[in-house]
Amino acid sequence: MTRFDEADALPVEGFGRTDGPEDHTDPGDVAFDDPEAPQPDEVCPGGRAGRRRGARRRSAVLTIAVPSIAVIGVAGAAAATIGPLRAHHHDTTAASSSRTEAAAQAKAQALATSEARDAAQRAARDKARTALQLREAAARKAAAEAPRFVLPISFHSGLSALFGQAGTHWMQLHTGIDFPVPEGTPVHAVTGGTVTTEWNPFYGYMVKLTAPDGTVTWYCHLSSYRVRSGHVKVGDIIAYSGDTGNSTGPHLHFEVHPDGGPAVDPLPWLLARGLDPR
Ligand SMILES: [Zn+2]
Repeated sequence: MTRFDEADALPVEGFGRTDGPEDHTDPGDVAFDDPEAPQPDEVCPGGRAGRRRGARRRSAVLTIAVPSIAVIGVAGAAAATIGPLRAHHHDTTAASSSRTEAAAQAKAQALATSEARDAAQRAARDKARTALQLREAAARKAAAEAPRFVLPISFHSGLSALFGQAGTHWMQLHTGIDFPVPEGTPVHAVTGGTVTTEWNPFYGYMVKLTAPDGTVTWYCHLSSYRVRSGHVKVGDIIAYSGDTGNSTGPHLHFEVHPDGGPAVDPLPWLLARGLDPR
């Protein structure tokens, strides 16, 4: 094996050499340069090990030889073939590196986008929660400030008759106040409560609305009813004004009966509740 150990070293020695006389003593070079000469494998008594070394050696010689004679012949063509392959490999490597970088950037961008989305969702939730709290607070405030009383007529100009006033067509002193409005004007519930309706020859079609505290308000000379019975909320339209019963013209006659008793002057009663019908 000593001989082939030396042969292994030969290509290394040969790398730096040109065609020197020593080359002819190199069994490896002889084998490569002269096809007729015995190949290293054939002269190798070591069998497989020798064949492997010989193959490795030829490959090394070819690799070294190609660049040195690349300008001519088949080796030039081989170099031309190898060149693009290597260039392609480099391109592939560069492209792969570029792809890796792009993937990293995409990943970072996706992460940033995800974080931004999470932040936006948190902000939206906070905003929605704040809006809900504001709405709830506004609802509580509105409920606390909701009017417990409203005027029976939303738009009118003054009163045409006051409480206690004497008149030729009244059997007694006037027991309510009159709102001079055209027939069909909406009439609102002054309080919440329960509605009943009836016909009276003097008051015409009328509504009696009983509030939870027992106060009964009357709405008289109506042309029609919106609500005939049952519960109403303060401000609900319960009927439309008219000229029915003992009336000298379209208007709403309004009365207040605390605890369902005798009528009281509606004007101070309304004023005491923050409402001025004048
Ligand atoms: Zn009246």
